[in-house]
Amino acid sequence: DLFYRRLPKVELHAHLNGSVSFETMEKLIKQKLHLNIEHSMTAIRSGQRRTLDECFQVFKVIHQLVDSEEDILMVAKDVIQEFAADGVKYLELRSTPREVTETGLTKRRYVETVLEAIRQSKEEEVDIDVRFLVAVDRRHGPEVAMETVKLAEEFMLSSDGMVVGLDLSGDPTVGHGKDLLCALQKAKNCGLKLALHLSEVPSQKDESELLLNLPPDRIGHGTFLHPEAGGSDSLVDKVCKQNTPIELCLTSNVKGQTVSSYNKHHFQYWYNRGHPCVLCTDDKGVFCTDLSQEYQLAASAFGLSQESVWGLSQQAINFTFAPEPIKQRLEKKWAELRPQVL
Ligand code: IMP
Repeated sequence: DLFYRRLPKVELHAHLNGSVSFETMEKLIKQKLHLNIEHSMTAIRSGQRRTLDECFQVFKVIHQLVDSEEDILMVAKDVIQEFAADGVKYLELRSTPREVTETGLTKRRYVETVLEAIRQSKEEEVDIDVRFLVAVDRRHGPEVAMETVKLAEEFMLSSDGMVVGLDLSGDPTVGHGKDLLCALQKAKNCGLKLALHLSEVPSQKDESELLLNLPPDRIGHGTFLHPEAGGSDSLVDKVCKQNTPIELCLTSNVKGQTVSSYNKHHFQYWYNRGHPCVLCTDDKGVFCTDLSQEYQLAASAFGLSQESVWGLSQQAINFTFAPEPIKQRLEKKWAELRPQVL
């Protein structure tokens, strides 16, 4: 539907390597035929479901395909271009710095290359403001987390405002947040904003209690925070008192089977309470979606009017980690576009 495509949008939860499109994947697969990778191994098509564990296997395959500076530059530029083409005006990309001995890739070069892609997109006047969140993969433990925080802090100070925060992600069934608390606290103290995946699976209740005390600046998924999903009133109280925005990714949760259907998505719970919610794609490549489609799915599952959908996209400006003048610029853009869209 044209309305959703023309709707100006803010994307706040997008993992770089999960966002690689079919077309970009095609280029990578052709360059690396010896890996014997097929499209079916890098994306979950419509109607398909996988367990969360199988979803994480997909990232392993993608990481084999994206393993050099050259790849990262191409992938990041394509992803930025695609979000812009979908009507996203402000994007916070997140990615886990990786080192690959065979190609000489270091974590530092990894971050520099993503920032270079952002810079080039700007020079090419792609109509989108892009910021970067450095991601910590929980699987790698406390030492790597601390190392990543230091790298993120350095780039926050030197990247002209492009690095704005830190993400905590990775397989939620591996490791415990208590071991990462120290690194996350340090990140917060040095001025990095925190976007943390919380309660993606039911077993993370204690961890969420702990991490909510930091507190995070935004929550990713939060699927099992509320009592009806097996969470607790105490978790909900904390989230509400702090008014922490929640990043909600409908297709990702349905395809990853942590939510049984679109109609049962916890968007409903939080949205009805008037809690700050932002619709996001998570991994538009892996889950074969885009942000326009996510807005359309939410609207049809929960009967939202176009006016409410506009409200959702506009309020997301407040949940960005961008400095105030950028938020004002975005507000102005929304005001200008409104008569053409609604
Ligand atoms: P990358 O950080 O750019 O390499 O993007 C892929 C990575 O994002 C994965 O290896 C995970 O660590 C993380 N990721 C992507 N989707 C999810 C999710 O739904 N939950 C938790 N982590 C995720």
